[in-house]
Amino acid sequence: VPKPLIAGNWKMNGMRGSLAQIKEIAASNMLASGKFDALICVPATLLHSAALVTSDTPLKIGAQDCHDRENGAYTGDISAGMIADSLGSHVIIGHSERRTRYREDDALVRSKTIAAHKSGLIAVVCIGETEEERSSGRTLDVLRYQLAGSLPDGATGENTVIAYEPVWAIGTGRTASIADIAEAHRFIRSELCKRFNSEGDRMRILYGGSVKASNADEILHVENVDGALVGGASLTARDFLSICSAY
Ligand code: 13P
Repeated sequence: VPKPLIAGNWKMNGMRGSLAQIKEIAASNMLASGKFDALICVPATLLHSAALVTSDTPLKIGAQDCHDRENGAYTGDISAGMIADSLGSHVIIGHSERRTRYREDDALVRSKTIAAHKSGLIAVVCIGETEEERSSGRTLDVLRYQLAGSLPDGATGENTVIAYEPVWAIGTGRTASIADIAEAHRFIRSELCKRFNSEGDRMRILYGGSVKASNADEILHVENVDGALVGGASLTARDFLSICSAY
C-alpha cells in the first residue's frame, strides 16, 4: 500500500500574503509524523517563493500545469523544466478545468506527463467522468480510455500519481458516494496493474471533488484511496490540516 498523499490545488487563488498559510502547513507536527506526504500546488507566480519557504520542511510544492515542449514561442506557458528550475517537485496535469476550458485531450495530457517526467517532476494526472457520462452508465469506460490515453509507458509509482476527480463533484459540495468511490478506485487499480504490473500497485490514486474536513475521514479510509486532491479546502492551513488529521 503506497504512503498516502494529501495534495492541495490552489487553482487561480493566492497572492504573496498566502505564503503565511503555506508556512503554517509546513510547520505542522502532523506533517512531521511521516504518516502521509503533503503537497500544495500553487499558481506559477508563487511557485518559487513557496518552494523556498518550505525547503527545509516536509511540505512539497508543485505547479498546476505545464507545456509539453521544453521551450519555444508559447506566450504565457511554462515548461516542466521551468517548474523544476523554480524548485517545484510535482505538477498537476489534465485537470478537468483544463480538459474542458482549454480542450486538452488525453494525447496532450500524455505528452505533458512525459515532459514532466523528463524534468524529474512527479506528475499528478487527473481523470474523471462528467455527470452525463455517469448518468448514462459510461463511468468505467471513460476512466479506462482516459487512463490508457493519458499515461505514458514510462509511468511508475515513483513519478506518477493518479487523481480521480468526478467532474460533477468539483467545487459543487457534492461528493461521490463511498460505494462509487470504492468502485472507481478499485477499477483504476486493476487497470493500472494490468498495464504496469507491480508498479500499478505502487501508484497512488487520489480522490478529488469537494473533499473537506467533515468527509475526509470516511473517504480517505476507502480501499485504494491513497489520499486526496483538495481544491477549496486547501486554501487555508486550518482547513487543509483538518483534512490531514484523518491520518
Ligand atoms: P474542490 O475540492 O474545490 O471541489 O476542487 C477539487 C479539485 O478540482 C482539485 O483539483
